[in-house]
Amino acid sequence: MSDESFKGRLTRRLVRVAPWQRCEECGGRLFRAWIYPSRGQIKVLGADGDLVPVVRADFESRTRIGFRHVDASVCRRIREGGRP
Ligand SMILES: [Zn+2]
Repeated sequence: MSDESFKGRLTRRLVRVAPWQRCEECGGRLFRAWIYPSRGQIKVLGADGDLVPVVRADFESRTRIGFRHVDASVCRRIREGGRP
């Protein structure tokens, strides 16, 4: 029997089928995640894994959140001078 909790197993399965979130600058894949409101916050289920890059999240409009790489070494657009 596994030590992983039911919640942990369910989360892992949900994240496995979540849509890819992409960098607004370069279009590169960032992580799979479901984004939803909860108790006055925006939750990003799936963005806490060890392989998830550091990203910046901004509201692009009232109804849209955009993610961007923070590390220039992994973002082609930042390296090419697209964003400081
Ligand atoms: Zn990028």
